[in-house]
Amino acid sequence: MRLVLVGPPGAGKGTQAQFIASNLSIPKISTGDIFRANVSGGTELGKLAKEYMDRGDLVPDEVTIAMVRDRLSESDAQDGFLLDGFPRNVPQAEILKKMLEEFGVALDIVLELVVDDDEVVRRLAGRRTCSQCGRIWHVDFDDKKDDVCDACGGHLYQRDDDKEATIRHRLEVYQEQTAPLVSFYAQERILVGVDATGPVEEVTQRAMEALSPYID
Ligand code: ADP
Ligand code: ADP
Repeated sequence: MRLVLVGPPGAGKGTQAQFIASNLSIPKISTGDIFRANVSGGTELGKLAKEYMDRGDLVPDEVTIAMVRDRLSESDAQDGFLLDGFPRNVPQAEILKKMLEEFGVALDIVLELVVDDDEVVRRLAGRRTCSQCGRIWHVDFDDKKDDVCDACGGHLYQRDDDKEATIRHRLEVYQEQTAPLVSFYAQERILVGVDATGPVEEVTQRAMEALSPYID
């Protein structure tokens, strides 16, 4: 299956991507994770991306698209993938469509995680990420007092862009640039909305039900 997750920052895309990709045995490709790995590795790409990420702005399209093209060309992505955080504007979506046409394939479905603004702010403000395995936690919802990842024992950190002022700006960027993807994919007739409120496992269950007609 070739699948895209869309939704505002904090909707739970990364969290759900972990479970959905593992249920479907497809690679999870998260552009945010790839950028963060480059930032911590000190690569040229990381140095370029960091200034945009710190402000909560999108990294320029040509850089992001080249990175995604390379990743989608790898062998593990040939039979399916889950994209998390890409595309993030209509030009990226149009180029993704052309890129997949070149590869002789197309997206099967775009899953929109629907959650209101208050919940998004609550989720982002308490987000903690494992510096070792990348797993996502929440200080309150997962009762994480000790900053230790229960999955691998790694240290949990708060992302620089999860501070209040940057959160607000990222939500504006979402409304202006990313939200139009919802009507873009509705017109393509591949959009399915899922209620992303409630416990993580319930959201995963709803997502898997929405995907079931597309699983072969
Ligand atoms: P979130 O999980 O909060 O939605 P991500 O981890 O997906 O955030 O992205 C973090 C940052 O990485 C973004 O604010 C942006 O600067 C950059 N980024 C990620 N994906 C893209 C993309 N497709 N296009 C441009 N910038 C991106
Ligand atoms: P996104 O990738 O869309 O930015 P994340 O998956 O990183 O979102 O989730 C943002 C925060 O919300 C994380 O701290 C995560 O643990 C928490 N979270 C995700 N899904 C839920 C849920 N269903 N209920 C409560 N908290 C959640």
